[in-house]
Amino acid sequence: MLTFTNTHLLLNEFQYVEPGSIDEATSVLAEHAGEARVLAGGTDLLVQMKLERAEPRCLVGLRRLAGLRRISGERDVVLGAAATIRAVSRSPVVRERYTALKEACEAFSTVQVMVMGTIGGNICNASPAADTAPPLLAFDAHARLVAPGAERSVPLDEFFLGPGRTVLRDGELLESIRLASSAVPRGSAFLKLGRVAADISKVSVAVRIDRDGDRAVDCRVALGAVAPTPVRSHQAERLLRGQRLSAGLVRDAAHASAEEIRPLSDVRSTVAYRRHVADVLVEDALTIAWRRAGGKDFA
Ligand SMILES: Cc1cc2nc3c(=O)[nH]c(=O)nc-3n(C[C@H](O)[C@H](O)[C@H](O)COP(=O)(O)OP(=O)(O)OC[C@H]3O[C@@H](n4cnc5c(N)ncnc54)[C@H](O)[C@@H]3O)c2cc1C
Repeated sequence: MLTFTNTHLLLNEFQYVEPGSIDEATSVLAEHAGEARVLAGGTDLLVQMKLERAEPRCLVGLRRLAGLRRISGERDVVLGAAATIRAVSRSPVVRERYTALKEACEAFSTVQVMVMGTIGGNICNASPAADTAPPLLAFDAHARLVAPGAERSVPLDEFFLGPGRTVLRDGELLESIRLASSAVPRGSAFLKLGRVAADISKVSVAVRIDRDGDRAVDCRVALGAVAPTPVRSHQAERLLRGQRLSAGLVRDAAHASAEEIRPLSDVRSTVAYRRHVADVLVEDALTIAWRRAGGKDFA
């Protein structure tokens, strides 16, 4: 059996292109369909290349596309795909309105990775443990995908197909991610458990609650590292939606989400431990999000 270690060398030969416009980038990607990869921060892709798990013939660098680093929006917020994890975590609008996303970015393992890694790379790499995925699911994010002469918007719910697999077609570029806003008071929270600080999640949870009085008029419960893709717990959401929240109901919703997930045992954790942790984290995250939405403490 052949085993590869990280040699710190890039062994395969490839062409490196830095397009000056999105049109140029998508043209290059289309021209080299099947052989080209986008290079954003490189914190996933370069590691895969050093391990010879990815051998692209052409890399399309995003460095010259300043528009892809924008974080903008009056109502809905638009995050350019190449906005770094650090920039997203520091954005005033994200800090004010999308707390769970801010917390997920701050929970990234090291400052070096936060400064280089991008939100688009985190999503397109499609790791089940991608930390920004649960909060983006919780905020009903949509991905804007562009190709030569075409574009489409895909709900993040439908973006992930499996570990390392997304709906991105050959020649397509993730241009940005749009987050919906809300007219009613809203609270959100992200919690993650890893082996050590500088590691990806064993389990991560993001929740969002929209409040009207003592009811949760809408909510999302999303989890990472507990299934082949980042997932929502529809059962937990159904239990909570439209209901007067209580400690008991929140506990029932947490149990429901722990039942619904499909975790694996791997080097980081076991199925039983992941279920237990998911249960605890969902309960805690719902309680925190409810308080942040202005809800009274449960009796
Ligand atoms: C030491 C270390 C620690 C890490 N810690 C964490 C952590 O705590 N949490 C976490 O979630 N992740 C972590 N990661 C993983 C990684 O840093 C993140 O997934 C990061 O967000 C990837 O972004 P990037 O810009 O570096 O992506 P890249 O490596 O540049 O790209 C990743 C993949 O996405 C594709 N891609 C990138 N941008 C686009 C685009 N705009 N359109 C189409 N395809 C695109 C690339 O072709 C590639 O396939 C860690 C990695 C390392 C090495």
